[in-house]
Amino acid sequence: MARLARSLDHRRDHYDVIVVGSGYGGGVAASRLARAGKRVAVLERGREFLTGEFPNRFPDLRNELQVRGRRMSMGRDTALYDVRLGEDMHVLVGCGLGGGSLVNAGVALEPDPRVFADDIWPGQIAQDGLLAEGFLRARRWLRPASDPRAADHTKFKALATAGRALGAQPVAPPVVVNFEEKVNPAGIAQPACTRCGDCCGGCNVGAKNTVALTYLPDAARHGAQLFTEAMVRHLSRGPDGRWQVHILRLDAPNASAQITMSADMVILAAGTLGSTEILLRSRAEGLTLSPRLGDRFSANGDIIAFGYGADLPVNAIGTGHPPRVDLDLPVGACVSGQIDLRDGEDLERELTVQEGVLPSALAPVLPVLFLPNGRLLGAVQSLINGVYKGPFSRLQTFFAVSHDTSGGRLVLDGERVTVSWPGAKDEPVYRQLDAILSKLVNEIGGKYVKNPLSGTLMGDQPATAHPLGGCAMARERGEGVVNHKGQVFDGRPGAGANDVHPGLYVMDGAVIPRSLGVNPLLTITALAERAMLHMAQDFGLSFHDDAVPVAAPVSPTEPGLLAQA
Ligand SMILES: Cc1cc2nc3c(=O)[nH]c(=O)nc-3n(C[C@H](O)[C@H](O)[C@H](O)COP(=O)(O)OP(=O)(O)OC[C@H]3O[C@@H](n4cnc5c(N)ncnc54)[C@H](O)[C@@H]3O)c2cc1C
Ligand code: SF4
Repeated sequence: MARLARSLDHRRDHYDVIVVGSGYGGGVAASRLARAGKRVAVLERGREFLTGEFPNRFPDLRNELQVRGRRMSMGRDTALYDVRLGEDMHVLVGCGLGGGSLVNAGVALEPDPRVFADDIWPGQIAQDGLLAEGFLRARRWLRPASDPRAADHTKFKALATAGRALGAQPVAPPVVVNFEEKVNPAGIAQPACTRCGDCCGGCNVGAKNTVALTYLPDAARHGAQLFTEAMVRHLSRGPDGRWQVHILRLDAPNASAQITMSADMVILAAGTLGSTEILLRSRAEGLTLSPRLGDRFSANGDIIAFGYGADLPVNAIGTGHPPRVDLDLPVGACVSGQIDLRDGEDLERELTVQEGVLPSALAPVLPVLFLPNGRLLGAVQSLINGVYKGPFSRLQTFFAVSHDTSGGRLVLDGERVTVSWPGAKDEPVYRQLDAILSKLVNEIGGKYVKNPLSGTLMGDQPATAHPLGGCAMARERGEGVVNHKGQVFDGRPGAGANDVHPGLYVMDGAVIPRSLGVNPLLTITALAERAMLHMAQDFGLSFHDDAVPVAAPVSPTEPGLLAQA
């Protein structure tokens, strides 16, 4: 597939709509508004990765790491993995054209209906029926499917054996992965998954249904212009009523190259951290907003943890593409099995445990990460096969998702937003998860490793890859930052509690006011699809949701129809 992004040198000064960020929320907004005939620009701080360009060796992976915290700052601002070290909590997000979809595991689940019955949500969410349509559309475009061969994978079998400790058996969850060769709704011919397990390293096969292979090419095909290495700093309103978007060019040799573009409408879709950060900076520059900005941050009760030393093979280290090792059995997509622990009485105690895979690029450093004298062993085991056949072939990786109290707050700490949540590590959910995961690991003779990096700068704070909230949706501005359509409340003294800034929206994980208890990508996409349906009604826009009729399908690895004019 040809590159979608063009250089900022080819930008216009003004657009009908500027979409900031290109993850699930940004992809939906760009595709729908381009289909409605709007002149759309997408501004993404990260770079574009074509299929085949994701890092598959450790030195390349290390170059795609940016780590920022009070005591540490390393890596370039456009690196693919963005780690924010916080005093109370760490957060991992994706950075690139396609956002978190490039590096996530692709598990696509709908929350328990009790989540939306919580009156923290504005009533319309449960009442107007458009959320159900949003989920329908999200599924049509991202096409979640369960691996028909899930139960054959060694890691699934290991989870099934471990599950005896809880009297629970795994099921194959829906993941946004193509298990059969197909042309997708954006007209891209996608090959079938090779079950290499590298989903969180970036799919070099083109089988994961990322935003970069679905909504974004659709937006480009309908005329949207996509720009990368464009970091939005803040927004302001010009005297003519147009939105001014202030951008730092990350592609410029001069790091202080600032430019401004204007638009009639701005849609912030820079993710929970990004959108909140932009609004916090905009408020510091004079934009009037809800006093709730930054509140209701949730980690979605999410952890990544490990079981080391099981007495069964697990086979959960990615082999990559092209494969770096020939295993008897394929690893499987990053998540093939999950155990659901439902609680009909108490929603907050529900949880889901998924077996995961570490990307192949990490294989050479696993001994360093997990063993006290790992440096030595790392050298000895630098023969990659050691990791696939030795003790690390029995390493279990778990993703667990549950509920927390959404008690965090996003605040600006110098340049970057950080999580302020004193006592986060004492949230009851973490004790519950530790107890359950220990049982699973012990059942097959392993040792529970909550955080292999706890002796380092990482400390023992919890870490999440599912940040939510910060621009939470609510009935009025005293309770939250946006309304149920994603419109940003105006915080001017004297403004009505429901007054909004005309033409300013947030559409991403930041608007979600509580933990979901399941991996969030499908809900973020569904809420964005729902917001677009409201926008269509409000502005008399018309866009269809059909698949692109394909005369010549575009392969994800070959130049095709999407070459920029
Ligand atoms: C390793 C990992 C595994 C995961 N696994 C799953 C899973 O299996 N299932 C699931 O549901 N979820 C998973 N997630 C979480 C999921 O990917 C995110 O919840 C989702 O991507 C959030 O979507 P979004 O639209 O809110 O924002 P994002 O996808 O984060 O997109 C925001 C985009 O905005 C850009 N941006 C940020 N700031 C700026 C700025 N100032 N200017 C311009 N651009 C900016 C970012 O670079 C990014 O591309 C995982 C995440 C990670 C990191
Ligand atoms: S398992 Fe491999 S081929 Fe399949 S979606 Fe994940 S990265 Fe792509």
